[in-house]
Amino acid sequence: MKYTPAKPPITGETLDSLTERLREQGEPTFRAKQILEWVYKKRARSWDEMTNLPKPLRAWLDATFDFFPAKLVLGKQSTDVTDKLLLELSDRSLIETVIIRAPQDGVGIEHSRKTICISTQVGCAMACAFCASGLAGLKRDLNAGEIVAQLLNVCYREDALTPRARMELASFDNIVVMGMGEPLANYDNLIRALTILNAPWGLGFGARRITISTSGLVPKILKLADEPLGFRLAISLHGATDEVREKIMPVNKAFPLEKLIPAISAFSEKHGRMVTLEFILIEDVNDSIAQAEALADIARDLHAHVNLIPYNTVEGLPWKRPSVQRQEDFANVLRAVRVPVTLRREKGHDIDAACGQLRLKTEKDRDALAV
Ligand code: SAH
Repeated sequence: MKYTPAKPPITGETLDSLTERLREQGEPTFRAKQILEWVYKKRARSWDEMTNLPKPLRAWLDATFDFFPAKLVLGKQSTDVTDKLLLELSDRSLIETVIIRAPQDGVGIEHSRKTICISTQVGCAMACAFCASGLAGLKRDLNAGEIVAQLLNVCYREDALTPRARMELASFDNIVVMGMGEPLANYDNLIRALTILNAPWGLGFGARRITISTSGLVPKILKLADEPLGFRLAISLHGATDEVREKIMPVNKAFPLEKLIPAISAFSEKHGRMVTLEFILIEDVNDSIAQAEALADIARDLHAHVNLIPYNTVEGLPWKRPSVQRQEDFANVLRAVRVPVTLRREKGHDIDAACGQLRLKTEKDRDALAV
């Protein structure tokens, strides 16, 4: 399960770690800043573009680091709102990164707000009953460089559309860690990657625009609360009582609601920000009025926002989304007690790009592409 690439990705280096490597090589340490500037600000696509570096240093970099730990194999646009990037890692594992655009009224698509959904593992060990990502179990964790490279790939693709690229900024507005995998089960790589994305020598991307979604690993939620960078937190609740939740989420056995809810509360107290509770609506599983009432109580106690997501059907799984009327009835129970609630009309259904259900199709795509 542990995978060590032949060459570590350059996108997994921090300014400190790269400075140290250069020092060991007898290189001047200011080179580290120059190199990272080429990677993140100038979006260089090869070592040779780094023209202010001596040739022998470029050769050493080439021999030492992998420039592209995640290579684009296929970019598939669904509608004008969702793009799915299929990326291949150096062990040939496939992962997906999704670009979700929210078009703004009256302006072109180049001005849309872009949210990027990233993956943190190949597969997933959580085994949530409704989710495609966990069907085949966990293959391995992504390393920090592979997580960061997903965002750089988005920049390569989007730079042409946005004037922000000319200012050497990220070509997107928000990151949601809601793709394949359980991010808090790959904690150290996740935090290292997000630190790189946030750093002024990296993409300089604000921590408050990064949302980490978890199935509810309580000790890691408490650890995350102590991180200096204030990331946003979303919890995949999906059941408002232990009875319902543990039927569909095995993680609830180790961390039932009586442990999970205080951890969420501790997180929001530390950060003073609203946490999001995600609740997939699955017909006859968790969509009763009694569940809505129990959810309303939890959300009110936590001062949380609720995101209702009509279930996306997964090939091979029996679950269905409730009727629109039933979705509305459920939402209305929350609205009646003034819980802030969003009933999501999901984007990207037509290209299987809904976050969290990415893997299955990916393997089939590869077969079809013969890559
Ligand atoms: N492991 C993390 C992040 C990945 S899942 C977590 O559990 O939060 C991202 C979100 O997509 C989760 O809320 C997950 O429950 C949801 N999801 C998974 N399968 C889905 C499906 N078929 N339809 C709708 N949402 C789904």
